[in-house]
Formats: sequence, structure tokens, C-alpha cells
Amino acid sequence: MVVYDTILIRYGELSTKGKNKKDFINRLSKNIQRVLEDCPELQFKNTYDRIYIKLNGVDPFPLTERISKVFGISSFSLTQKVETNIEAIQKACLEIAQDTQVGTFKVVAHRSDKTFEMKSDDINRSVATVILKNTEHKVNVKTPDFKLHVEVRADSTYITSKIYPAAGGYPVGVNGKAMLLLSGGIDSPVAAYYVMKRGVEIEAIHFSSPPYTSNSAKEKVLELARLVSGYQGRIKVHVVPFTDLQLAIYKHCSESYAITIMRRMMVRIAERVALRNHCLALATGESLGQVASQTLESMGCINDVIKLPVIRPVVTFDKLEIIAKSKEIGTYETSILPFEDCCTIFTPKSPVTKPLIRRAEEYEALFNFETLIEECILNTECIVVKPIKEKESYL
Ligand code: ATP
Ligand code: MG
Repeated sequence: MVVYDTILIRYGELSTKGKNKKDFINRLSKNIQRVLEDCPELQFKNTYDRIYIKLNGVDPFPLTERISKVFGISSFSLTQKVETNIEAIQKACLEIAQDTQVGTFKVVAHRSDKTFEMKSDDINRSVATVILKNTEHKVNVKTPDFKLHVEVRADSTYITSKIYPAAGGYPVGVNGKAMLLLSGGIDSPVAAYYVMKRGVEIEAIHFSSPPYTSNSAKEKVLELARLVSGYQGRIKVHVVPFTDLQLAIYKHCSESYAITIMRRMMVRIAERVALRNHCLALATGESLGQVASQTLESMGCINDVIKLPVIRPVVTFDKLEIIAKSKEIGTYETSILPFEDCCTIFTPKSPVTKPLIRRAEEYEALFNFETLIEECILNTECIVVKPIKEKESYL
């Protein structure tokens, strides 16, 4: 059995970012540490083009799924760190080859330490010779069954046979923070994924209407937040008790405008909570034309009451594309659990598809929504969720 001692993390797009690079690498390293915080034995070392995680005896295989979700990593490998001398390199490569099912192989050496006495080609040849002598494997340079990567550096040499692809994008947090309106549906968790992928950290805000919405509906939203928190380490979720405001809307406004006005209230509240928490934008899972409140006229009428920019990552996606992504990121099964969302309960029969700002303002003038908004904010509950379940009976 090969004993891996180091995880080698490679960056993708980071390399194009010049002078911000150091901040990027530090943030990326912190983000990885966060998702692995239950393994205190791990030691991190950041360099200009790689992060090395020393395992100190921790089994790396259960960690690979978590690492593959951290944005900013282009790929990573489990490696064996050996001294930079050819005997140690040959021995480690032979061990990996002996541990691999018989087939064809190729040795790929890279020298970032050009002072090492052998050239890459010579390393390739000498390692291959040892493997050919001691195993049944054959060389195939075009389509090998497995590759042995040998990275020669001044201090040590890293040897690995498998490269794990990772999530790409930017490290979460390097591009500020946004407040995501998180419902219990399919779209908003997918929106969360795309926002985080561009390096924007998210906090989530959820509007719940007890007793019209059940506690299970709230738990479902927290579970969705937990599922996407794997991409940034943890998520702060603000749960807003929305019932009184929602009932007031239905009492004072025409049924056809209720959804529009409810949305205007949601973004008003979201903007205030966002500003208090240093968020620079709101984000939603809106998709153009999907429902009555997601027409351009409707979006305009909703945007009119706030100043913060609104990021809508899935605005141009078809529902099927959003569903495919939600399956890929693992939120779909939870999203389709049948608990009522506050919007599904109060859905009017014929919502207006082209709301007028003037009309919405007229309805809103009929009641004192400011006090109700203040109460919503005052009674908002703040919950921090983490990727690893602390209680098994979460849902
Ligand atoms: P989703 O699948 O994300 O629920 P949807 O297709 O059901 O979206 P809507 O219900 O119209 O669409 O919601 C559009 C967006 O408004 C959601 O993606 C979300 O960002 C926000 N939203 C809707 N309901 C809530 C809620 N109860 N709390 C927070 N945000 C909400
Ligand atoms: Mg919804």
C-alpha cells in the first residue's frame, strides 16, 4: 500500500491575477482549512504556485470530495514527498506502480529545480527502467493506463499517479460578499453555487411564514444552505418571520399585485440585512419568464425599491439546465421535498405579469409597511450552517 503524505493543490485562474495573487492564495488556503477543520493534524504550506497539505497520518481519501468543491482549485493530487535524489524517486514510483493494476504507464517528470543533475527525459527513462524490471507493466507514451507525475523541486520531489479535477473559479471571498435570497426551491441553491464560483461569499436570507409554512420547510432551507456551504466552508442564514407583513399585503392590496408587492418587501428587507452585514449585492435564483413575477417588467418593478445590484446567475437558463446543475451539485433531491414555501401558499390566481411601479406604490401607500419591515428585521433569526452535519437528525 502506498502511503500518501501530502496533498498538492494547483490553482487555475489565479495565475492571471498578478499582484492580488498573494491575497488569493491566502484566502484559498483559509477556505480549504475551513472545509477540513475537523482534521487538526493537517499542516498547510502556501507557495507562489501551489499549496501543500501535509497529512501527518490522516487518510486523504475521505477528504477528496470536500477538496474538489473548493473554488479556486484547478486540480489536486495525493502525493508522496521524497528527497530530491534519483534513488528515492525510483523507489517511490515503483511502489505506486506495484500498487496499481497491471497495465501501461508513462513517467512524466517536471523539473522546477533546474540545478538537479538529471534532465526530465533522463528521469523518465531511469524511472521507467526500474518499473519495467520489477513489474509486469509496459510503457505506452500515447495512451497510458496511468501516469506517474514526478515534480522535482529544490527542497523535495512530489510523486503522484492521479490528478483529481476540482471546481475551478475564484476562492470564495476574494470578490466580496452578497446576500442570496434562498427559497426552498431548485433555482436559488444553483444561483448560490454560481455566485460563489466567481469568488463572492454568500450569506442567505430566507422568508418564512409560520404557521402557514411548517418547521420542516425551514429545516429544508437550512439543509439546502448546508449542502451549498461545502463550497465556502459555512453560511450564515437569516430567517425572517414574514407572516404579519404577508397578511397585511393580502389585506390591503389587490390580489393580482400581491406577489409583486411581496417581492418588493422581500428585497427591501434583504437590502437592509445585506448592508448591515457588509454585503455588496443581492442574489436570486430568478429565471426570465419562468413565472409571472419573473418578467422583465416585474424585475424592474421589484428592483425599483432598492439600490444594491442584484446578481441573477440563472436568469437565462432553461429549467432543465438548472435542474441538471442542481443534480450535479447535490441539492436537487432536497429541493424537491414537498414542503410549502411562503410563496406557494399565498399564490394568487392571476398575478399581474406587467406590473406598474405607480400601481404598486399606490397599494403600498395603503398601509404602514415600514413598521412591519422593522419588526421582521428585529425578529430575524441568524443561524450558521456548516458542511458537516453536527446532528444526524437534521431533517
Ligand atoms: P426557487 O426554485 O429558487 O424557489 P422559483 O422558480 O420557485 O425559484 P420563485 O418562487 O418565483 O421562483 O422565486 C424566485 C426567487 O426569489 C428565488 O430563486 C429566490 O431567490 C427568491 N425567493 C422566493 N421565495 C423566497 C423565500 N421564501 N425566501 C427567500 N427568497 C425567496
Ligand atoms: Mg420558490
